Amino acid sequence: MPYICVMQTLVERDKAVIWHPFTPFKHSPEPIAIERGEGSLLIDENGNRYLDAISSWWVTLHGHAHPYIAEALYRQALQLEQVIFAGFTHEPAVRLAERLLPLLPGQFSRVFYSDNGSTSTEVAIKMALQYWWNIENGHAETNQRTRIIAFHNSYHGDTFGAMSVSDRSVFTKAFESHLFEVVFIPTPTVDNIEEIKNLIHREGTTIAAFIYEPLVQGAGGMQFYDAALLDEILNTAKGQDIICIADEVMTGFGRTGPLFASHYLQKKPDIICLSKGLTGGTMALGVTAVTERLTQAFQSEDKRKTFFHGHSFTANPLACSAALASLDLLEQEAAIAGMERIGIANRSFIKRLHHHPSVRESRIKNLRCLGTILAFEINQGKDEYLNDVSKQVTAFMLSKGIYLRPLGNTVYIMPPYCITESELEKIYTAIECLLHDQSLFYTS
Ligand code: PMP
Repeated sequence: MPYICVMQTLVERDKAVIWHPFTPFKHSPEPIAIERGEGSLLIDENGNRYLDAISSWWVTLHGHAHPYIAEALYRQALQLEQVIFAGFTHEPAVRLAERLLPLLPGQFSRVFYSDNGSTSTEVAIKMALQYWWNIENGHAETNQRTRIIAFHNSYHGDTFGAMSVSDRSVFTKAFESHLFEVVFIPTPTVDNIEEIKNLIHREGTTIAAFIYEPLVQGAGGMQFYDAALLDEILNTAKGQDIICIADEVMTGFGRTGPLFASHYLQKKPDIICLSKGLTGGTMALGVTAVTERLTQAFQSEDKRKTFFHGHSFTANPLACSAALASLDLLEQEAAIAGMERIGIANRSFIKRLHHHPSVRESRIKNLRCLGTILAFEINQGKDEYLNDVSKQVTAFMLSKGIYLRPLGNTVYIMPPYCITESELEKIYTAIECLLHDQSLFYTS
């Protein structure tokens, strides 16, 4: 029998062997085979170019395949690519901690490395719980501080601890009975703030930590909430000795304007979690930085008080070098100007959208922007992640050479800082065009 070699496309080969994240097997569009990236652009195997308007899941800061970060990675790869981080150390890890600590919002004294956003929050939760365990010398009878407060609509990652402190949603449904109990509170409004503060006063002595995404709940639909009211919660929590954990995995590195969203707040966290933009979006890396208060409880002769946690790739030298290179770029005029450019353009686009028939006729709602993030909801009666309008928006925008991935009916943009004014304008014009499509606004 003659051997017939059938050439398969990359997408066909993918379909045979790959399981993609957050992607149903049935009725999902085929993945796009990306060959290379350049600045704000993703370029597929056929040469089609897509503006990456969501920074590839909020990670890319300076643009794809940035030569400065690539060089740093190359040099580091030739020198030291990986080393066990228990019993060893290396220059990129120490240098990165030295550079990060003074930039953080608050008096942070140490960095604990992990390798993604979920592990950075998982570490924070474990540290906070063990802090109280250590203080009480492991006596369950006296350690009352075993519960955690988190916000409704929060998202802190996909591992079990991170899922537990995330609001119960479609993401956590299958695992609900395995998640630990959390005290969920609503995000603050002028109407509920007193109630929230009363709850914290009442339950305070049983609470180990409070975890929050400052100012913007990302995966929960880019929902913004008020800084002054969050400050009131933090003030109350701190009054009760509760450890405050800022999850800045998404908001970190300029997304909301200042370097960290916590810079908007008077009250600073005791622990901060970072990932995504930490390496400019080039390598997987997580940071959980802590104040001196935390480390004190772990400095003991008692070996049981050690933080027994670590990952094979903790403080990977390549990832740390990418982060150092990204910090260099962040300090440069181009990045600062880029963030400002996006903020200014977003604000004027919102003004412009107010004249659009979809806004005048309330077919879209909650137009908002903060720093480099712009978002609105397509009015579909019900706001939810499983809303299929998301697929429709993505398909339309792809046909215009733009990649958007709405969170259900929440459409948002969060571009890399290298995006140009004309690229932004291209996104805005495409959104205006999209919003003329009547079929978006009705569910079957
Ligand atoms: N925290 C927040 C606020 C996030 O937005 C995310 C990811 N979207 C995570 C944690 C988890 O990060 P990762 O996907 O890197 O595990």
